Amino acid sequence: MKLKFISMIAIVATLMSACCNKPKTYNSVDEYPEYKGNDLGVTYSPEKSFFRVWSPAAQEVRLNIYEDALEGAPTQVFDMKYDVDGTWTYTVKEDLIGKFYTFQIKQNDQWLEPTPGIWAKAVGVNGVRGAIIDWNTTNPEGWENDVRPEMKSFTDAIIYEVHMRDYTIHASSGSSYPGKFLGLSEAGTKTIDGLTSGIDHLKELGITHVQILPSYDYGSIDETRLADNKYNWGYDPKNYNVPEGGYATDPYSPASRILELKTMIQQLHAAGIRVIMDVVYNHTFVGDNSHLNLQAPGYFYRMNEDGSWGNGSGCGNETASERAMMRRFMVESIKYWVEEYHMDGFRFDLMGIHDIETMNQIRAAVDAIDPTISIHGEGWAAGGCGIPEELRAVKNNAHQFAPVGVFSDDIRDGLRGKWTDGNKGGFVSGRGLDESIKFGVVGATAHPQIDLTQVAHTNVAYATSPAQVINYMSCHDDPCVVDKLKAIHPEATIEEIIRMDLLGQTIVFTAQGVPFIYAGEELLRDKKGVHNTYQSPDSINQIDWTNKVKYAEVYDYYRNLIALRKAHPAFRMSDAAQVAEAIQFVETPANVVAYTLNGALTNDSWNQIFVIYNGNTTDVEISLPEGTWTAACYNAKINENGLGNFTEKINVPYTSAVILYRK
Ligand code: CA
Repeated sequence: MKLKFISMIAIVATLMSACCNKPKTYNSVDEYPEYKGNDLGVTYSPEKSFFRVWSPAAQEVRLNIYEDALEGAPTQVFDMKYDVDGTWTYTVKEDLIGKFYTFQIKQNDQWLEPTPGIWAKAVGVNGVRGAIIDWNTTNPEGWENDVRPEMKSFTDAIIYEVHMRDYTIHASSGSSYPGKFLGLSEAGTKTIDGLTSGIDHLKELGITHVQILPSYDYGSIDETRLADNKYNWGYDPKNYNVPEGGYATDPYSPASRILELKTMIQQLHAAGIRVIMDVVYNHTFVGDNSHLNLQAPGYFYRMNEDGSWGNGSGCGNETASERAMMRRFMVESIKYWVEEYHMDGFRFDLMGIHDIETMNQIRAAVDAIDPTISIHGEGWAAGGCGIPEELRAVKNNAHQFAPVGVFSDDIRDGLRGKWTDGNKGGFVSGRGLDESIKFGVVGATAHPQIDLTQVAHTNVAYATSPAQVINYMSCHDDPCVVDKLKAIHPEATIEEIIRMDLLGQTIVFTAQGVPFIYAGEELLRDKKGVHNTYQSPDSINQIDWTNKVKYAEVYDYYRNLIALRKAHPAFRMSDAAQVAEAIQFVETPANVVAYTLNGALTNDSWNQIFVIYNGNTTDVEISLPEGTWTAACYNAKINENGLGNFTEKINVPYTSAVILYRK
């Protein structure tokens, strides 16, 4: 009797839910319900595959099953049933392994193009259809024992920004996997001159984090025509939760890209290196027919009042992180990359497009997994945005989303000149901007000796801690350092360019904050003067490893500079109040910045440190604080054991840095 009663209730409940679960009509996308479950996309088992897609305003939704990733009509088509909170579901009670799928939405009486949906975690070639795979085949051997390398403070990080193709595509790299995920982590490779390359080069250089340019599935490269050797940075997202097929050895095998990216991360972890991924949630490759828009038209983007697309990205569209399901998607996507791929950090492209609340929720979500996972981004947008600046994660609002970090375009442009000023030059060219350098030295935190009205692009000490700011001289964007310096100084000799480069990087690596270099800078990389190389050929973008011999003194300097920073906690403070106490700037001539750094406060083996940067093209004489000082960096050389002792005053050679200490 009792059993019967329960089954009666179950039947009634089923009937009720069947009768009541109907798609609703909405006056605006803002009324769409949020679905809080974690089973969007496909849930596979050999017995059945369960599909769920969120599309509140759809009239009908179809599930298409295919034999092929690209070709042919669906072999099975199912009408999905409306379920709850704007979602539609269907269960296929057979083994779909190896097959492909799409969802298709009917809205406003029109059938849209098929889409794998934005929650797809595996796709076929070119990311057009979702793939049903056996996830057990995607983990490299020993994956369960993979752990993040230890990290105490983010100020201990040294970030190396790299594009897969740049690193290994040149024949001189000696790579077995040119342009692939596996190339970045390949051990034992040698340059054409017999020097280390691949992962061994990264270990030798001493960096702690690689920051990989977009490596989710992007749209600009045709994965069926990789032999064409086309190049793109990848800021054109197609499938956010799937690796890019062009970096896999077999883009036709949906598991290959997943396995190989995990293998790369595993090998880097084993080498003590963490992995940060560049993520571009702020816009998609296309608007109308993006996977976001084919699933819930108009919902995931900010539209202007006249119905045109918002364009804060400068790429034709801008996403709407403030909407519940876009925000949820971003948070869940980040968690997914951390949990499935063991990713250690994320660099948000045009983070200033996203709202502050979303960035705080992302930070909280990764904190719950591992607070040492880093989150930082570009604290700006590329145009006007659909929500006001006070709500957005721009640099000057950084106090409201700490500890999410921001790039300092202030130290960058202090070093090389404001990007708005053409080729006027900056501090390393002996052309001023001293206050931006000082602001960089204190990690964009509040310091009584800095005149914020004179800083390049801000009048706010935006960092709550040096751990919240990324210091750099160049990244993939705009001209790289060498090209920029050559443009500023067309008459300069290569020796002069090298001195400016080394001075700039010495400032980056002695400044409080998180230092960041662009891959190949340590080999004096250039890009043949091309400014925006996002789709330039390999001949422009590739790292030429013969430079490792040609500019051996540059490489040695970078390596020693990294070692020096790692050996001295005084350059890696993580507390803003300690920075304000430990750093005292002294009076100097123009184009010179000098300061004492209280090493004892940070338990450094150097009790007192005195740092001088001379941006002038002539030598300057600087008075020293009392006592005898030993130089660890002098005249474009670094040696911790000492490069001479100095008392009372020191001659600082042109375009160079001096680091002095007393034990
Ligand atoms: Ca792709």
